[in-house]
Amino acid sequence: MEQLTVGKILCLGRNYSEHAREMNSEIPATPVVFMKPSTAIIRSGDDILFPAVSRCMHHEVELVVAIGTLCKNAPRATAYDFVSGYGVGLDMTLRDLQSEAKKKGEPWTVAKGFDTSAPLSEILPKTQIPDPHNLVLRCTVNGKVKQEGNTRDMIFRIDEIVSYLSCIFTLEPGDLIFTGTPEGVGEVKPGDHIEAELVGHTSIHHSVRAK
Ligand code: MG
Repeated sequence: MEQLTVGKILCLGRNYSEHAREMNSEIPATPVVFMKPSTAIIRSGDDILFPAVSRCMHHEVELVVAIGTLCKNAPRATAYDFVSGYGVGLDMTLRDLQSEAKKKGEPWTVAKGFDTSAPLSEILPKTQIPDPHNLVLRCTVNGKVKQEGNTRDMIFRIDEIVSYLSCIFTLEPGDLIFTGTPEGVGEVKPGDHIEAELVGHTSIHHSVRAK
């Protein structure tokens, strides 16, 4: 797999309506944004470490957008010019800590940003992905399909996300955007094996183990 220098990792929450529904959450009127540190990234084959602070870890398979060019205040019409490529990632989530944080109005940083919380595939150049809004995302746990969704069902589209984020954060080469997960999120335990696929393009494989 290619060497990758990762900058900041911006992530969208609740960007598929069926997932918002399964979380008993409102469909957002503006993007729900959170961040992961670059140290959360692992590559295919690396173990996902279950931290001792949590009892409930969930998988969320997501399309990942890679930024290739410095981007500030981009209009939607030119937003794709700043994208270098696409990959598949997992937004691993400590659901118990996230639920508690939501109740208390506290940040999700621990629940979303712990070490190994961002498994990432190779980044495919955008020329290989003519339509990023017609891609199948699949997540399999121990050989059973748990999530299967199509990127056409995103609430906020990629051009809108890049434009929106670039008006808040300067986007730099190496930055990544995790664009949200379709429905079917669920628990994983130490010993489980997870596969996340951008079907027909690339996939990653990870085992979960207690830290
Ligand atoms: Mg997510």
